[in-house]
Amino acid sequence: MRLTVLGFESPAPGPGGATPGYLLETAAGKLLIDCGSGVYAQLMKHIRIEELSAVVLSHYHHDHICDMPILQYGVMMASIFGKRNGTFPVYGPAEPQDWAHKMTYHQYTVLHTVMENSVLHLAGVEISFLRTDHPIMCYAMKITDGRKTIVYGADTGPGTNWDIFAVDCDLFICESTFTTEYVPRGKRAHLSAREAAQMAERIRAKQLLLTHLSPDIPRKKYEDDAAAGRYSGCWQLAEIGQVIEI
Ligand SMILES: [Zn+2]
Repeated sequence: MRLTVLGFESPAPGPGGATPGYLLETAAGKLLIDCGSGVYAQLMKHIRIEELSAVVLSHYHHDHICDMPILQYGVMMASIFGKRNGTFPVYGPAEPQDWAHKMTYHQYTVLHTVMENSVLHLAGVEISFLRTDHPIMCYAMKITDGRKTIVYGADTGPGTNWDIFAVDCDLFICESTFTTEYVPRGKRAHLSAREAAQMAERIRAKQLLLTHLSPDIPRKKYEDDAAAGRYSGCWQLAEIGQVIEI
């Protein structure tokens, strides 16, 4: 499996940046996982829209979906110009319904809803789902080709139980929205870099990619905070265009 980071910032991109989106390529197909602001233009650096097998969305917060209407236009134009046939599949949660409905666009794209017990077989991989601790319906994804496993943590507060779902994964893509000094008091929807590193250690992830980073927090602060989590595996902060072969 080949993972390319198309966007990693949140909640809004910095100059020339993009909010979350990841291209997953196998010998059998190409998947887009989340489709944030700026992701479509990044995707076009790597593939043509007619090469894409499907989109899989973790949840409908704007930073994870706001290029979906643009992707729908891209699919429409590819259809009109005869470059692709049939309805393009989008996989995502059933709620909030008003946003879920927007993922279907005329005859060009159609939403297939997923639930926690859903198992997808797409592009040569199996994808299973875990509801995360987040204010709206949000699913982490476990993606395996039968040999290696990637867990994409989507958005999550500290209440998600990763122990069974993510244990021993080869790559843990975990959000680290805050550094410890910026963690809000009380109920929250996100993690710090330190907490992400601690979780990666707990589940014995072999590799950690820290993502969902604010352009307003210096990368050095994220690095220092992640180091404080004492994760013993290999870790890095996400960057646009970064490729990880698993
Ligand atoms: Zn979110």
